[in-house]
Amino acid sequence: MPSDWPIISYFNSGTATSRHILSQLEFVAREQWYELYRHKEDGSLWRLDADDKYQQRFLVKIDNAETWATFDATQLEQGLLLESRGGLSEDRCKWKSCESRAIQRSAFCVVHTYEQGVRK
Ligand SMILES: [Zn+2]
Repeated sequence: MPSDWPIISYFNSGTATSRHILSQLEFVAREQWYELYRHKEDGSLWRLDADDKYQQRFLVKIDNAETWATFDATQLEQGLLLESRGGLSEDRCKWKSCESRAIQRSAFCVVHTYEQGVRK
């Protein structure tokens, strides 16, 4: 069965979902803060943040096996943050001179919420 996982998703260690995902992956390599896995059935590549109890881990689909360790997932992570908050609010971002709209349950837009280390 091929993986039909989204391009990016939260990976929460110790959950049934994370165990199920890992059971379908085989470890390929580790570099710096990331681990690379290959889906056993369809061969797709997935990058996982190394285990760190203080940081939210993400599972990201990787298209280029050469640059997997340096692939910048910031925009994907911001998209997931926006989605997890339920989208934009009616308010303007409180960041000085930022014109963007704030996201739900934050005083800031997605970029400025993210810049403060918020991931979810
Ligand atoms: Zn902003």
